[in-house]
Amino acid sequence: MLKLNEHYTEIGNNYLFAEVARRVKEYKENHPDKKVISLGIGDITQPIVPAVINAITQATAEMAKSETLRGYAPYEGYDFLVQAILKHDFTDRGIAVEADEIFVSDGAKSDTGNIGDILSPNNRIAITDPAYPVYVDTNKMAGREIELLPCIPANGFVPAFPQKPADVIYLCYPNNPTGTVLTKDQLKLWVDYAVEHQSLILYDAAYEAFVSEANVPHSIFEIEGARKVAIEFRSFSKTAGFTGLRAGYTVVPKDLTAKTSKGEILSLNALWRRRQSTKFNGTAYIIQRGAEAVYSPEGQGQTKETIIYYMQNAQIIKSGLESLGLQCYGGVNAPYIWCKTPDNMTSWAFFDLLLNKIQVVGTPGSGFGEAGEGFFRFTAFGNKEDTLEAVERIKALYA
Ligand code: PLP
Repeated sequence: MLKLNEHYTEIGNNYLFAEVARRVKEYKENHPDKKVISLGIGDITQPIVPAVINAITQATAEMAKSETLRGYAPYEGYDFLVQAILKHDFTDRGIAVEADEIFVSDGAKSDTGNIGDILSPNNRIAITDPAYPVYVDTNKMAGREIELLPCIPANGFVPAFPQKPADVIYLCYPNNPTGTVLTKDQLKLWVDYAVEHQSLILYDAAYEAFVSEANVPHSIFEIEGARKVAIEFRSFSKTAGFTGLRAGYTVVPKDLTAKTSKGEILSLNALWRRRQSTKFNGTAYIIQRGAEAVYSPEGQGQTKETIIYYMQNAQIIKSGLESLGLQCYGGVNAPYIWCKTPDNMTSWAFFDLLLNKIQVVGTPGSGFGEAGEGFFRFTAFGNKEDTLEAVERIKALYA
Protein backbone atom coordinates (compact mmCIF):
# COMPACT_ATOMS: atom_id res chain seq x y z
CA MET A 1 0.00 0.00 0.00
CA LEU A 2 1.19 3.50 -0.87
CA LYS A 3 2.53 5.41 2.14
CA LEU A 4 2.00 9.12 2.59
CA ASN A 5 4.26 11.80 3.97
CA GLU A 6 2.47 11.71 7.32
CA HIS A 7 3.66 15.18 8.22
CA TYR A 8 1.00 16.47 5.81
CA THR A 9 -1.61 15.29 8.30
CA GLU A 10 -0.23 17.82 10.81
CA ILE A 11 -0.87 20.97 8.79
CA GLY A 12 -4.68 21.10 8.76
CA ASN A 13 -6.88 21.05 5.71
CA ASN A 14 -7.50 24.65 4.94
CA TYR A 15 -5.10 27.31 3.86
CA LEU A 16 -6.22 30.50 5.68
CA PHE A 17 -7.26 32.44 2.60
CA ALA A 18 -9.26 29.51 1.27
CA GLU A 19 -11.40 29.59 4.42
CA VAL A 20 -11.84 33.37 4.13
CA ALA A 21 -12.88 32.93 0.49
CA ARG A 22 -15.30 30.14 1.40
CA ARG A 23 -17.12 32.28 3.99
CA VAL A 24 -17.27 35.29 1.66
CA LYS A 25 -18.61 33.16 -1.20
CA GLU A 26 -21.30 31.68 1.03
CA TYR A 27 -22.29 35.17 2.25
CA LYS A 28 -22.48 36.54 -1.31
CA GLU A 29 -24.63 33.61 -2.46
CA ASN A 30 -27.08 34.30 0.36
CA HIS A 31 -26.99 38.11 -0.08
CA PRO A 32 -26.54 38.80 -3.81
CA ASP A 33 -27.74 42.41 -3.40
CA LYS A 34 -25.00 43.45 -0.94
CA LYS A 35 -21.69 45.03 -1.97
CA VAL A 36 -18.87 43.25 -0.19
CA ILE A 37 -15.59 45.20 0.14
CA SER A 38 -12.43 43.17 0.62
CA LEU A 39 -9.51 44.52 2.61
CA GLY A 40 -8.50 40.91 3.12
CA ILE A 41 -5.98 39.10 0.92
CA GLY A 42 -2.73 40.94 0.14
CA ASP A 43 -3.25 41.05 -3.59
CA ILE A 44 -2.84 44.04 -5.84
CA THR A 45 -5.68 46.07 -7.35
CA GLN A 46 -3.83 48.79 -9.27
CA PRO A 47 -2.81 48.19 -12.91
CA ILE A 48 0.73 47.10 -13.67
CA VAL A 49 2.68 50.20 -14.64
CA PRO A 50 3.26 51.13 -18.33
CA ALA A 51 7.06 50.64 -18.15
CA VAL A 52 6.58 46.98 -17.22
CA ILE A 53 3.72 46.38 -19.67
CA ASN A 54 5.76 47.90 -22.52
CA ALA A 55 8.78 45.71 -21.73
CA ILE A 56 6.62 42.59 -21.56
CA THR A 57 4.88 43.47 -24.84
CA GLN A 58 8.21 44.02 -26.58
CA ALA A 59 9.62 40.77 -25.19
CA THR A 60 6.50 38.92 -26.33
CA ALA A 61 7.03 40.24 -29.88
CA GLU A 62 10.60 38.85 -29.77
CA MET A 63 9.13 35.39 -29.22
CA ALA A 64 7.41 35.60 -32.62
CA LYS A 65 10.71 35.61 -34.55
CA SER A 66 13.21 32.79 -34.72
CA GLU A 67 16.14 35.28 -34.52
CA THR A 68 14.99 36.68 -31.17
CA LEU A 69 13.10 33.71 -29.77
CA ARG A 70 14.12 32.55 -26.27
CA GLY A 71 13.60 29.06 -24.92
CA TYR A 72 14.59 27.79 -21.51
CA ALA A 73 15.92 30.58 -19.33
CA PRO A 74 19.10 30.20 -17.27
CA TYR A 75 18.28 28.59 -13.91
CA GLU A 76 19.63 31.59 -12.00
CA GLY A 77 17.99 34.23 -14.20
CA TYR A 78 19.08 36.19 -17.28
CA ASP A 79 22.17 38.30 -16.78
CA PHE A 80 20.30 41.49 -17.76
CA LEU A 81 17.98 41.06 -14.76
CA VAL A 82 20.65 39.86 -12.34
CA GLN A 83 22.78 42.91 -13.20
CA ALA A 84 19.82 45.29 -12.75
CA ILE A 85 19.01 43.75 -9.36
CA LEU A 86 22.65 43.87 -8.30
CA LYS A 87 23.08 47.54 -9.23
CA HIS A 88 19.83 48.99 -7.92
CA ASP A 89 19.05 46.87 -4.87
CA PHE A 90 22.62 46.40 -3.61
CA THR A 91 25.64 48.09 -5.20
CA ASP A 92 24.03 51.56 -5.47
CA ARG A 93 23.03 51.24 -1.81
CA GLY A 94 26.56 50.28 -0.78
CA ILE A 95 25.57 46.68 0.04
CA ALA A 96 28.08 43.94 -0.77
CA VAL A 97 26.39 41.25 -2.89
CA GLU A 98 27.80 39.51 -5.98
CA ALA A 99 26.00 38.51 -9.19
CA ASP A 100 26.40 34.77 -8.61
CA GLU A 101 24.72 35.11 -5.22
CA ILE A 102 21.43 36.22 -6.85
CA PHE A 103 18.93 33.55 -7.94
CA VAL A 104 15.95 34.84 -9.93
CA SER A 105 12.79 32.82 -9.31
CA ASP A 106 9.04 32.78 -9.82
CA GLY A 107 8.47 34.45 -6.45
CA ALA A 108 9.18 34.42 -2.76
CA LYS A 109 6.52 31.85 -1.90
CA SER A 110 8.33 29.13 -3.85
CA ASP A 111 11.73 30.10 -2.49
CA THR A 112 10.72 30.45 1.17
CA GLY A 113 8.86 27.16 0.81
CA ASN A 114 11.62 25.30 -1.04
CA ILE A 115 14.71 26.46 0.85
CA GLY A 116 14.19 23.64 3.35
CA ASP A 117 15.16 21.18 0.58
CA ILE A 118 18.83 21.88 1.25
CA LEU A 119 18.53 21.79 5.06
CA SER A 120 18.33 18.75 7.32
CA PRO A 121 14.97 17.80 8.86
CA ASN A 122 16.87 17.66 12.14
CA ASN A 123 17.44 21.39 12.34
CA ARG A 124 15.61 23.25 15.10
CA ILE A 125 13.49 26.04 13.62
CA ALA A 126 12.37 29.33 15.18
CA ILE A 127 9.51 31.26 13.55
CA THR A 128 7.93 34.50 14.64
CA ASP A 129 4.27 34.21 15.61
CA PRO A 130 2.06 35.41 13.87
CA ALA A 131 3.69 34.73 10.48
CA TYR A 132 3.13 34.20 6.78
CA PRO A 133 1.77 30.61 6.94
CA VAL A 134 4.31 29.15 4.47
CA TYR A 135 7.14 29.04 7.05
CA VAL A 136 5.31 26.93 9.63
CA ASP A 137 3.49 24.72 7.12
CA THR A 138 6.56 23.82 5.05
CA ASN A 139 8.58 23.00 8.16
CA LYS A 140 5.75 20.87 9.48
CA MET A 141 5.66 19.09 6.11
CA ALA A 142 9.35 18.26 6.61
CA GLY A 143 8.76 17.15 10.21
CA ARG A 144 11.01 19.77 11.80
CA GLU A 145 10.79 20.91 15.42
CA ILE A 146 9.47 24.47 15.57
CA GLU A 147 9.68 27.04 18.36
CA LEU A 148 7.32 29.96 17.92
CA LEU A 149 8.47 33.43 18.94
CA PRO A 150 5.43 35.54 19.90
CA CYS A 151 5.31 39.07 18.51
CA ILE A 152 2.74 40.97 20.52
CA PRO A 153 2.18 44.51 21.83
CA ALA A 154 3.84 43.58 25.16
CA ASN A 155 7.21 43.08 23.43
CA GLY A 156 6.62 45.80 20.85
CA PHE A 157 6.38 43.05 18.19
CA VAL A 158 10.12 42.40 18.60
CA PRO A 159 10.61 38.66 19.03
CA ALA A 160 12.66 37.41 22.00
CA PHE A 161 15.52 35.01 21.24
CA PRO A 162 14.51 31.31 21.19
CA GLN A 163 14.57 29.44 24.51
CA LYS A 164 16.59 26.61 22.95
CA PRO A 165 19.22 27.68 20.40
CA ALA A 166 17.71 27.56 16.91
CA ASP A 167 19.54 26.39 13.79
CA VAL A 168 17.22 28.29 11.46
CA ILE A 169 15.33 31.50 12.19
CA TYR A 170 12.62 32.97 9.96
CA LEU A 171 12.36 36.76 10.07
CA CYS A 172 10.04 38.74 7.82
CA TYR A 173 10.40 42.53 7.76
CA PRO A 174 8.46 44.65 7.01
CA ASN A 175 6.22 42.05 8.57
CA ASN A 176 3.24 40.26 7.19
CA PRO A 177 0.79 40.24 8.97
CA THR A 178 1.60 42.79 11.70
CA GLY A 179 3.01 45.52 9.45
CA THR A 180 5.73 46.13 12.05
CA VAL A 181 9.48 46.45 11.41
CA LEU A 182 12.83 45.92 13.09
CA THR A 183 15.22 48.85 13.17
CA LYS A 184 18.79 48.31 11.99
CA ASP A 185 19.92 48.06 15.64
CA GLN A 186 17.25 45.48 16.46
CA LEU A 187 18.12 43.39 13.40
CA LYS A 188 21.84 43.60 14.30
CA LEU A 189 21.05 41.80 17.58
CA TRP A 190 19.57 38.90 15.56
CA VAL A 191 22.58 38.81 13.25
CA ASP A 192 24.83 38.69 16.34
CA TYR A 193 22.66 35.91 17.81
CA ALA A 194 23.00 33.91 14.59
CA VAL A 195 26.78 34.41 14.48
CA GLU A 196 27.09 33.28 18.11
CA HIS A 197 24.86 30.20 17.68
CA GLN A 198 25.91 29.38 14.10
CA SER A 199 22.28 29.74 13.02
CA LEU A 200 20.92 30.62 9.59
CA ILE A 201 18.49 33.55 9.28
CA LEU A 202 15.93 33.21 6.48
CA TYR A 203 15.03 36.85 5.89
CA ASP A 204 11.85 37.50 3.92
CA ALA A 205 11.95 41.07 2.61
CA ALA A 206 8.97 40.76 0.25
CA TYR A 207 7.68 44.16 1.48
CA GLU A 208 11.00 46.01 1.28
CA ALA A 209 9.59 48.59 -1.16
CA PHE A 210 7.25 49.91 1.54
CA VAL A 211 10.05 50.91 3.93
CA SER A 212 9.80 54.66 4.50
CA GLU A 213 11.84 55.30 7.65
CA ALA A 214 15.61 55.78 7.54
CA ASN A 215 16.48 53.51 10.48
CA VAL A 216 14.62 50.56 8.95
CA PRO A 217 16.77 48.29 6.74
CA HIS A 218 15.73 47.42 3.19
CA SER A 219 17.99 44.38 3.19
CA ILE A 220 19.50 42.28 5.98
CA PHE A 221 22.82 42.64 4.14
CA GLU A 222 22.93 46.27 5.32
CA ILE A 223 23.77 44.75 8.71
CA GLU A 224 27.40 43.95 9.44
CA GLY A 225 28.02 40.21 9.68
CA ALA A 226 24.80 39.22 7.86
CA ARG A 227 26.62 37.71 4.87
CA LYS A 228 27.84 34.94 7.16
CA VAL A 229 24.40 34.04 8.53
CA ALA A 230 21.55 35.08 6.24
CA ILE A 231 19.64 34.23 3.08
CA GLU A 232 17.31 36.96 1.79
CA PHE A 233 14.09 36.53 -0.21
CA ARG A 234 12.78 39.35 -2.38
CA SER A 235 9.72 39.62 -4.58
CA PHE A 236 8.43 41.78 -7.41
CA SER A 237 4.86 40.95 -6.33
CA LYS A 238 4.18 43.83 -3.98
CA THR A 239 6.99 46.07 -5.25
CA ALA A 240 5.65 46.20 -8.79
CA GLY A 241 2.38 44.27 -8.99
CA PHE A 242 3.83 40.92 -10.10
CA THR A 243 1.46 38.72 -8.06
CA GLY A 244 0.05 37.32 -11.30
CA LEU A 245 3.20 37.71 -13.43
CA ARG A 246 5.47 35.87 -10.94
CA ALA A 247 9.04 36.98 -10.29
CA GLY A 248 11.27 37.25 -7.27
CA TYR A 249 14.81 36.48 -6.27
CA THR A 250 16.83 34.99 -3.46
CA VAL A 251 20.29 36.04 -2.32
CA VAL A 252 22.47 33.21 -1.01
CA PRO A 253 25.90 34.60 -0.01
CA LYS A 254 28.93 32.47 -0.81
CA ASP A 255 30.07 32.91 2.81
CA LEU A 256 27.30 30.57 4.02
CA THR A 257 28.19 26.98 4.83
CA ALA A 258 26.63 24.00 6.58
CA LYS A 259 27.98 20.70 7.84
CA THR A 260 27.12 17.16 6.73
CA SER A 261 26.75 14.45 9.38
CA LYS A 262 30.29 13.35 8.43
CA GLY A 263 31.60 16.81 9.23
CA GLU A 264 32.12 17.90 5.62
CA ILE A 265 31.57 21.65 5.12
CA LEU A 266 29.49 22.60 2.06
CA SER A 267 28.46 25.90 0.46
CA LEU A 268 24.75 26.76 0.66
CA ASN A 269 25.12 28.84 -2.50
CA ALA A 270 26.36 25.76 -4.40
CA LEU A 271 23.63 23.57 -2.92
CA TRP A 272 20.85 26.04 -3.77
CA ARG A 273 22.21 26.29 -7.35
CA ARG A 274 22.16 22.49 -7.51
CA ARG A 275 18.60 22.39 -6.14
CA GLN A 276 17.29 25.03 -8.52
CA SER A 277 18.94 23.49 -11.59
CA THR A 278 17.31 20.17 -10.75
CA LYS A 279 13.82 21.27 -9.76
CA PHE A 280 13.32 24.69 -11.40
CA ASN A 281 13.44 25.63 -15.09
CA GLY A 282 13.72 29.39 -14.86
CA THR A 283 11.35 32.35 -14.87
CA ALA A 284 9.76 33.24 -18.23
CA TYR A 285 11.90 35.54 -20.40
CA ILE A 286 9.06 38.01 -20.97
CA ILE A 287 8.47 38.28 -17.21
CA GLN A 288 12.18 38.81 -16.55
CA ARG A 289 12.14 41.65 -19.11
CA GLY A 290 9.17 43.08 -17.20
CA ALA A 291 11.10 42.81 -13.92
CA GLU A 292 14.13 44.50 -15.51
CA ALA A 293 11.88 47.42 -16.50
CA VAL A 294 10.98 47.98 -12.84
CA TYR A 295 14.54 49.31 -12.45
CA SER A 296 14.37 51.72 -15.42
CA PRO A 297 13.89 55.41 -14.50
CA GLU A 298 10.25 55.25 -15.74
CA GLY A 299 9.65 51.98 -13.92
CA GLN A 300 11.09 53.35 -10.68
CA GLY A 301 8.93 56.47 -10.84
CA GLN A 302 5.75 54.64 -11.80
CA THR A 303 6.05 51.84 -9.24
CA LYS A 304 6.82 54.39 -6.50
CA GLU A 305 3.56 56.18 -7.35
CA THR A 306 1.61 52.95 -6.91
CA ILE A 307 3.28 52.34 -3.56
CA ILE A 308 2.39 55.87 -2.45
CA TYR A 309 -1.21 55.18 -3.51
CA TYR A 310 -1.37 52.01 -1.40
CA MET A 311 0.28 53.73 1.56
CA GLN A 312 -2.35 56.48 1.42
CA ASN A 313 -4.92 53.70 1.83
CA ALA A 314 -2.92 52.43 4.81
CA GLN A 315 -3.15 55.90 6.35
CA ILE A 316 -6.92 56.05 5.70
CA ILE A 317 -7.44 52.68 7.43
CA LYS A 318 -5.10 53.39 10.32
CA SER A 319 -6.42 56.85 11.15
CA GLY A 320 -10.04 55.69 10.71
CA LEU A 321 -9.64 52.78 13.11
CA GLU A 322 -7.64 54.84 15.58
CA SER A 323 -10.36 57.51 15.61
CA LEU A 324 -12.63 54.79 17.03
CA GLY A 325 -10.12 54.09 19.79
CA LEU A 326 -8.98 50.80 18.25
CA GLN A 327 -5.36 49.84 18.88
CA CYS A 328 -3.55 49.61 15.51
CA TYR A 329 -0.02 48.66 14.51
CA GLY A 330 1.87 48.74 11.22
CA GLY A 331 0.76 50.74 8.20
CA VAL A 332 3.85 53.01 8.18
CA ASN A 333 6.55 50.86 6.56
CA ALA A 334 4.16 48.16 5.37
CA PRO A 335 0.82 47.85 3.56
CA TYR A 336 -0.79 46.02 6.49
CA ILE A 337 -2.65 47.35 9.51
CA TRP A 338 -2.78 44.98 12.45
CA CYS A 339 -5.69 45.88 14.64
CA LYS A 340 -6.69 44.65 18.10
CA THR A 341 -10.27 43.38 17.89
CA PRO A 342 -12.78 45.43 19.89
CA ASP A 343 -14.31 44.02 23.08
CA ASN A 344 -11.77 41.16 23.17
CA MET A 345 -13.58 39.36 20.36
CA THR A 346 -11.87 36.41 18.74
CA SER A 347 -10.42 37.10 15.32
CA TRP A 348 -13.03 34.94 13.53
CA ALA A 349 -15.93 36.45 15.55
CA PHE A 350 -14.80 39.91 14.39
CA PHE A 351 -14.47 38.59 10.84
CA ASP A 352 -18.05 37.28 10.89
CA LEU A 353 -19.34 40.49 12.48
CA LEU A 354 -17.78 42.73 9.82
CA LEU A 355 -18.89 40.47 6.99
CA ASN A 356 -22.47 40.04 8.19
CA LYS A 357 -23.15 43.53 9.51
CA ILE A 358 -21.27 45.82 7.11
CA GLN A 359 -19.94 43.53 4.34
CA VAL A 360 -16.28 44.34 4.97
CA VAL A 361 -13.71 41.55 4.67
CA GLY A 362 -10.40 41.43 6.48
CA THR A 363 -8.16 38.58 7.58
CA PRO A 364 -8.50 36.98 11.02
CA GLY A 365 -5.22 37.29 12.91
CA SER A 366 -5.50 33.82 14.43
CA GLY A 367 -5.02 32.39 10.92
CA PHE A 368 -1.39 33.57 11.08
CA GLY A 369 -0.67 31.77 14.34
CA GLU A 370 -1.72 31.53 17.97
CA ALA A 371 -0.28 34.91 18.91
CA GLY A 372 -2.49 36.46 16.23
CA GLU A 373 -5.68 35.56 18.14
CA GLY A 374 -7.61 38.70 19.04
CA PHE A 375 -6.12 40.62 16.10
CA PHE A 376 -7.31 41.43 12.61
CA ARG A 377 -5.36 42.34 9.48
CA PHE A 378 -6.52 44.97 7.02
CA THR A 379 -4.62 45.44 3.77
CA ALA A 380 -3.93 48.67 1.95
CA PHE A 381 -4.00 46.96 -1.46
CA GLY A 382 -7.61 47.91 -2.22
CA ASN A 383 -8.63 50.83 -4.36
CA LYS A 384 -9.05 54.16 -2.61
CA GLU A 385 -12.83 54.50 -3.01
CA ASP A 386 -13.48 51.04 -1.55
CA THR A 387 -11.03 51.68 1.28
CA LEU A 388 -12.75 54.93 2.19
CA GLU A 389 -16.15 53.28 2.06
CA ALA A 390 -15.03 50.31 4.19
CA VAL A 391 -13.65 52.66 6.84
CA GLU A 392 -16.87 54.71 6.83
CA ARG A 393 -18.88 51.51 7.33
CA ILE A 394 -16.70 50.50 10.28
CA LYS A 395 -17.05 53.98 11.76
CA ALA A 396 -20.85 53.81 11.38
CA LEU A 397 -20.88 50.39 13.06
CA TYR A 398 -19.03 51.70 16.12
CA ALA A 399 -20.45 55.22 16.21
N1 PLP B 1 6.48 36.47 1.70
C1 PLP B 1 5.52 37.13 2.34
C2 PLP B 1 5.78 37.60 3.72
C3 PLP B 1 4.28 37.36 1.74
O1 PLP B 1 3.33 38.03 2.41
C4 PLP B 1 4.06 36.89 0.43
C5 PLP B 1 2.77 37.09 -0.26
O2 PLP B 1 1.79 37.53 0.24
C6 PLP B 1 5.07 36.20 -0.19
C7 PLP B 1 6.27 36.00 0.46
C8 PLP B 1 4.85 35.63 -1.55
O3 PLP B 1 5.43 36.39 -2.51
P1 PLP B 1 5.44 35.98 -4.04
O4 PLP B 1 4.20 36.52 -4.65
O5 PLP B 1 6.70 36.56 -4.55
O6 PLP B 1 5.46 34.48 -4.10
